Amino acid sequence: MDTYDERGRPAGAAGNRPDVWQLARRALACRCPNCGRGRLFTGYVTPVSACAVCGEPLGHIRADDGPAWLTILIVGHIVVAAILAVEPYVDWPQWVSSVVWLGLALVLVLIVLRPAKALFIGILWRSGAPGSEGAAPRTP
Ligand SMILES: [Zn+2]
Repeated sequence: MDTYDERGRPAGAAGNRPDVWQLARRALACRCPNCGRGRLFTGYVTPVSACAVCGEPLGHIRADDGPAWLTILIVGHIVVAAILAVEPYVDWPQWVSSVVWLGLALVLVLIVLRPAKALFIGILWRSGAPGSEGAAPRTP
């Protein structure tokens, strides 16, 4: 269980970052990686500019293709395993198989993508990476 100080920051020394398991729990709940209480998204996958509870700036962190990659990895393994386990025992018309497996894939993508993005934002935030392309390129 996470504990907090009076300002909503995680308990402990200032600057303490949550461990990997806390970060994963907060990502599954789509909560702020810093305090675990504020919402991380304003829409489906649009991150807040800053946490409403602790004020941690989060909107500048770009997860890019990482969440999509993780979602495809997870959903692909689940759907392909389900197809291989079920299809030999059923005699569905082709259109029924298409609807069932594509529908399952779509539902799982919608479930997995949000926490996957929260996890990538949390990892980038914890690593201290700038997470944005705002810095000007170096010139020789
Ligand atoms: Zn927060």
